[in-house]
Amino acid sequence: MTDIWIMRTGHRPHRDKRVTTHVALSSRALGAKGIYVDAEDRVLEENVRSVSERFGGDFEVHTGIKWKEAVRGFDGTVVHLTMYGQRLDEAITKIPSDKDIMIIVGAEKVPPEMYERADLNVSVGNQPHSEIAALSIFLYGLTNGKALYEDRGGRFTVIPNSRGKTVVEVPK
Ligand code: SAM
Repeated sequence: MTDIWIMRTGHRPHRDKRVTTHVALSSRALGAKGIYVDAEDRVLEENVRSVSERFGGDFEVHTGIKWKEAVRGFDGTVVHLTMYGQRLDEAITKIPSDKDIMIIVGAEKVPPEMYERADLNVSVGNQPHSEIAALSIFLYGLTNGKALYEDRGGRFTVIPNSRGKTVVEVPK
């Protein structure tokens, strides 16, 4: 399995902390290797790492990394999610399965250069909605949701339960 990286641009720490945290947690749950966020935000880093400490895995979070820097040394397919892009179902068939992938999601307007630099500009429908929704649907389509129930070897493991909550804590 190749690595999936997320690049979140346009993050404003005071305004977007909840949305960007959810972008990170959704991508972690759907099997991404890690996330880059353009503005430095130590609180965001701590919050996301604290989830991994409890629920396992080695999801990486790096803030203060601009999108150009993230893509510069990246050897793989760069996908930019935008409502103006080509159809998701068609784009997914063009993504090489043997290469890493970096998925860029914005906040407000993204610079025109990003459309040029991306290998694929992909829409999840042509209606405006949300970076969390677009990323989650894209990742589900790309991976068939394979990571959703994987054991992450965490201190806490949730056992699916049709009613109520079952959480197993592994003793230290
Ligand atoms: N006009 C923007 C656009 O180009 O998609 C919508 C801005 S939206 C608040 C923030 C981010 O959500 C966008 O940068 C894009 O990554 C993602 N997004 C929103 N709607 C989308 C859609 N229908 N398809 C793909 N991505 C979408």
